[in-house]
Amino acid sequence: MKLVSACLVGINCKYDGKSRICPKLVEMVKRGEAIPVCPEILGGLPTPRIPSEQKNDRVINKNGEDVTEQFNKGAEETLNIAQMVGATEAILKARSPSCGANKVYDGTFTHTIVDGDGVTAKLLKTHGIKVKTEEEIGV
Ligand code: SF4
Repeated sequence: MKLVSACLVGINCKYDGKSRICPKLVEMVKRGEAIPVCPEILGGLPTPRIPSEQKNDRVINKNGEDVTEQFNKGAEETLNIAQMVGATEAILKARSPSCGANKVYDGTFTHTIVDGDGVTAKLLKTHGIKVKTEEEIGV
């Protein structure tokens, strides 16, 4: 079983109230091979919401508010779901401060990319779950 970022399968949970649908991932969910999750919603944030980026081990939204607690809660709830369904892999949205793997935005809201993992991607990796982005798997 896999987890997949909910916004990649057409759930309108992105900060702007939209999704970024990848038809191949939708098919994966329909076949029962993947379960959609949105860590930011699981962490209690609304949709739409102010976009956030990671900076110095914190997550700060564009209004300067610290939303680290919600991001951490979302990561923990996502891990709960992963462990409940026995997920060994997650396909998550590239560069998101929650879901991004290996590359994320740098906290300046200037579209500058740096090495690093989103909060949820990092927690899943530390529990042995393989994390890939939709871009890495080419869908
Ligand atoms: Fe998509 Fe992840 Fe952001 Fe939710 S937290 S909108 S699943 S990238």
